[in-house]
Amino acid sequence: MYTTTNILPKDKKLLYEGTLLPLMEQFYTIQGEGFNTGKAAYFIRLGGCDVGCHWCDVKESWDASIHPLTKTKEVLQQVLAHSAKAVVVTGGEPLMYNLTALTRELKASYIETFIETSGAYKLTGEWDWICLSPKKTMLPLQEIYNKANELKIIVYNKHDFIWAEEEAKKVNPDCYLYLQPEWSKRNGVGPLIVDYVKANPKWMISLQTHKYINIP
Ligand code: SF4
Repeated sequence: MYTTTNILPKDKKLLYEGTLLPLMEQFYTIQGEGFNTGKAAYFIRLGGCDVGCHWCDVKESWDASIHPLTKTKEVLQQVLAHSAKAVVVTGGEPLMYNLTALTRELKASYIETFIETSGAYKLTGEWDWICLSPKKTMLPLQEIYNKANELKIIVYNKHDFIWAEEEAKKVNPDCYLYLQPEWSKRNGVGPLIVDYVKANPKWMISLQTHKYINIP
């Protein structure tokens, strides 16, 4: 969903087709959290999100209209200018857009495609790894619970352990389960997560390691 009213009709068509996307930032770094922690990955962050998490650490992504509409082919050229073998598409909420063209172009260049999503919108694109991080304000669609490779629950307070168990019942049996402290609460909930994972070893802890080593 792109809310700018003065967007050109031809751009609306390309946005709908997914060959033009609101690009907030792109950078080559190390994936810091979840299953793929430690792997080099090129991040593509798309603008636009209406999920409204109060603790969101990328609120500047919410308004899609302030992020330039960028051709997927230009994004691909940037990816290929680096040594990246994997791309993480994130946001914002990237599934507000049709990601078919972007992932097709990436896969044609033998780049692995990873997505980080709240799951609140229909799945588009072809993915090697789906990290589902559900939010209470807009629950995921069942098709994404079914396809998720990884369920990542952000733990802000004690109630989130109950929420995590409810969400874990909805994913497929092969899905990895992660609890990740919300960054501003890490000192408080971190030890609680350690105890919880020790008592419930189907869960694993995910840390935002990139923030500890000051990389994006
Ligand atoms: S879904 Fe992600 S980008 Fe959107 S408000 Fe929540 S944390 Fe922020």
